[in-house]
Amino acid sequence: MLKLFIAVVSVILLYWVWHKKNQIFSKQNNKVDPFITTIEAIELQTFLDWDTPLSCLEGDGIRYGRQFKQKKPPDLPHEPGCRCIATKLFYTSNDVFQGTSPASTHKSALGDISSKDAFLLKSILHKIIADSEGEDFSDFLEQFELNNFSAEIRNQAISLAEQAFNAANSKC
Ligand SMILES: [Zn+2]
Repeated sequence: MLKLFIAVVSVILLYWVWHKKNQIFSKQNNKVDPFITTIEAIELQTFLDWDTPLSCLEGDGIRYGRQFKQKKPPDLPHEPGCRCIATKLFYTSNDVFQGTSPASTHKSALGDISSKDAFLLKSILHKIIADSEGEDFSDFLEQFELNNFSAEIRNQAISLAEQAFNAANSKC
């Protein structure tokens, strides 16, 4: 009888040890690498054109998400004429710290252009709407480093800006 009791106790003990061991191991496997985490974000991207509204130019490139200052993206469209899209992106914490963005091209009336071209085009379009009253187009352009545009889109970008400029200045 005592032998049977010892046998039963050791089986229970062995089972308990085996169970504990599994728990500890599964906890270790679930642990995420603490140095690189993936961050989910919504990024607004506007379509750059001569008639892109101001609120779209201002909203372009803003990221929303749990880890960002602004949690929820605004309802689209921003206003009539808005052609913004909200894209879901996954960053690693590394991308965020380095300031790199997974989106490397930008949609525009000139096709998909590089982020660098898009940035310059956007600043020109923004300035045209915000503050270009009563100026001459070529004087206005002097404040921008137009040579920073990629050669293949430079002329088209300038005529797009001119179209925006004429539209903005004929309104007032
Ligand atoms: Zn918009």
